Amino acid sequence: MGEFDLIARYFAPLGGADPEVRLGIGDDGAVLAPPAGDELVVTCDSLVEGIHLPAGAPAVSWGRRLLAVNLSDLGAMGATPRWALLALTIPEDDTFWLEDFARGFGERAREARVALVGGNTTRGPRAATLTLLGTLPPGSALRRNTGRAGDLVLVTGVLGAAALGRRLWDRGVRAGRRLEPYLDPDPPWRLGPFLRGRATGAIDISDGFLADLGHLLEASGTGAEIEIGALPLAPGLDRVQGGDLELALAGGDDYELCVTVSEERLGVLTAGARDLGVRLTRVGCLTSEPGLRLSDGGRGVPTPRVMGHDHFRSVS
Ligand code: ADP
Ligand code: MG
Repeated sequence: MGEFDLIARYFAPLGGADPEVRLGIGDDGAVLAPPAGDELVVTCDSLVEGIHLPAGAPAVSWGRRLLAVNLSDLGAMGATPRWALLALTIPEDDTFWLEDFARGFGERAREARVALVGGNTTRGPRAATLTLLGTLPPGSALRRNTGRAGDLVLVTGVLGAAALGRRLWDRGVRAGRRLEPYLDPDPPWRLGPFLRGRATGAIDISDGFLADLGHLLEASGTGAEIEIGALPLAPGLDRVQGGDLELALAGGDDYELCVTVSEERLGVLTAGARDLGVRLTRVGCLTSEPGLRLSDGGRGVPTPRVMGHDHFRSVS
């Protein structure tokens, strides 16, 4: 199959029927008509074989995960997802792989009402990059530099489930529900727009809870106190096992949100999250004193040496 047949067969059908897409796949560029006055939020994330997904990961997981990780970023900004551009590199025109990839991508795209409006297809080592565009009212984007001392720190979902799945995959497990959070994360992107004007700040948890919280603290110029006993650990993880706790604190790939909110707004946020079917747990608070302090029932606990994943950290 040639490049253009491949695009027509697998990607053109993912264009949807969005009237704001004046021109989708097929020309040199897409033409979009964002709602008048809205701001565009743009994000981009890649999956590289052997780095983000292991060789042999199901193609349907590639498609679903690619959209999920980008939806997670838009959710953390509070944006409503709309349009996507897909840059795909594959070693061969494997129709089975493409079929499954497009199916997985299409499932997530329909859920989120995202239209695929363009991209690029090349041959090479397997990798996929998605640029995802969303919209929101002017000035309403959620930021990571706007947390204030005294705000509560909340996390969605559970922590450590993906890291546990990755550990199982590395041990040779190839089937079962425990792999799902790793191969097929399900970020709470629907909560994003609800957080606008309600949360004081947000960041998505992709590298590891402590690492990403650390980014928020640094940007906001605050510290934080986190209660270990309050953390929503993934089922199968044991709070008292050091290794398990590290998976939850620093394992990464969670694609949950870390949200800051003033105490007065906690009730509104909790109710809104409940309506959206998103679990929201209070795990600590921001402090004017800089630094991250962990405690367990009032006792101080040392922070792990590694706080999360960093592609370019030198190992010494
Ligand atoms: P050009 O050579 O003008 O850059 P291409 O030949 O690469 O365009 O692509 C033809 C059309 O197909 C363009 O509209 C492009 O956006 C779209 N396209 C190519 N690959 C993909 C893909 N993987 N997903 C979605 N659209 C794609
Ligand atoms: Mg061109």
